[in-house]
Amino acid sequence: MTNLIVVGMQWGDEGKGKIVDLLCPAFDAVVRYQGGHNAGHTVKFGDRHFALRLIPSGILHAGQPCVMGNGMVVAPDALFEELDQLQAAGVETAGRLFVSNRAQALLPIHADLDQAREKAAGGGKVGTTGRGIGPAYEMKTARYGLRLSELASPRLEERLRAQMVRIEAELTALGGEPLGAPSRLADQCRAWHERLAPYLADTEHLLHGWIDAGKTLLFEGAQGSLLDVDHGTYPFVTSSSPTAGGASTGTGVAPSAIGGVLGIVKAYTTRVGGGPFPGELAGEAGEFLRRRGNEFGTVTGRPRRCGWFDAVAVRYAVRLNGTRALALTKLDVLDTLAEIPVCVAYRHRGEVLSNFPSCLDTLEAVEPVYEVLEGWREDTSGILDFARLPKAARAYIAFLEEQVGSRVALLSTGPRREETIVAPEGPLVDWLGSRLETVLAQRGA
Ligand code: GDP
Repeated sequence: MTNLIVVGMQWGDEGKGKIVDLLCPAFDAVVRYQGGHNAGHTVKFGDRHFALRLIPSGILHAGQPCVMGNGMVVAPDALFEELDQLQAAGVETAGRLFVSNRAQALLPIHADLDQAREKAAGGGKVGTTGRGIGPAYEMKTARYGLRLSELASPRLEERLRAQMVRIEAELTALGGEPLGAPSRLADQCRAWHERLAPYLADTEHLLHGWIDAGKTLLFEGAQGSLLDVDHGTYPFVTSSSPTAGGASTGTGVAPSAIGGVLGIVKAYTTRVGGGPFPGELAGEAGEFLRRRGNEFGTVTGRPRRCGWFDAVAVRYAVRLNGTRALALTKLDVLDTLAEIPVCVAYRHRGEVLSNFPSCLDTLEAVEPVYEVLEGWREDTSGILDFARLPKAARAYIAFLEEQVGSRVALLSTGPRREETIVAPEGPLVDWLGSRLETVLAQRGA
């Protein structure tokens, strides 16, 4: 049994929520390692829907401990909103949600700056959610940020002032209002800290202790690999490291204590916000994927940009993350198509590229090279065995596997747990050992 990282292989929204939810009970704890309340899972539990942005979805599984790691930026009011939602539904969080003392506090002034920038950027928008995630990480890296433990520090006002001076300078230059004295925000921070205190912990020590005791951890990445601040389509990226390496820096658990990476990948491609997207389908085909796949943002409701499966991008993500097994989602969205193109390479100024380019200008100029596969035109939902999938669907999966260099261990053919095929052998089975039974029981049917 292995500590496992679950990470998105594309630009986010790969359907991680469902897969994490399915795998949770096979692990002793679920740990989130980066991002803030810009991520969003809508998890269906029983007949209720929960919008979880910060708290790992493991919280919906009775008794399961959940950790929000040091790599996160946490807006206290957003966290309280989630806690209230859970409490109203009778989900107990006391004693099983642990929030890192080292996680950064995301303050309302970060959101103010984020929104002012996006407004001023016009056509050059990054397409952020406007929640302040970027500015919170900037303050962290510039060493002006506040860790959650510092929200009640005797030096709070002084520290806040240092941040506010910088934020105010930019805000007013963008036409915003001055922020005023830090005392009001300081009072707010102290009140937040009081409510946060029971959840705060030195989570790295907690995790080390659990590992020593033989407990197993599921690390849950938000966003996707191509939005990674280092490896993604910079500057149209998120401000943290969703790739597998981020699980170590974002929790304090060493790479040597993590045994596997399961990549979540959608059977086609989507992206939200600005930035290059080779193969974006502007016309009817894009509209088809958007409608059938219900590709609208969970947090913002924005329509997602859609394209066929991009094997160049996923091949890169597989290498970045060391992904040995994939969970392929939303195959059912393609069920009605007669032909399905797959992007296998990019063409740039007459040259064929099989590696994902680092340069934004190149990425913006490439043309996708497609191979067209036969569709299956059959309903795949509810099939529980790979062998029972239509032949053309199996051929499509095998083609993707060969193109990206990783095997499909889980196949999702619908939003419900029962609509999942689990490979009877391979890396996932090795990682989960006897706990695979728990996953199969969860899947039901
Ligand atoms: P996430 O943030 O990576 O979980 O991605 P999203 O927020 O975009 O969630 C994916 C959405 O697609 C959710 O509404 C899921 O219920 C749904 N979903 C997940 N897997 C599948 C699937 O295999 N087929 C279909 N049709 N929908 C799915």
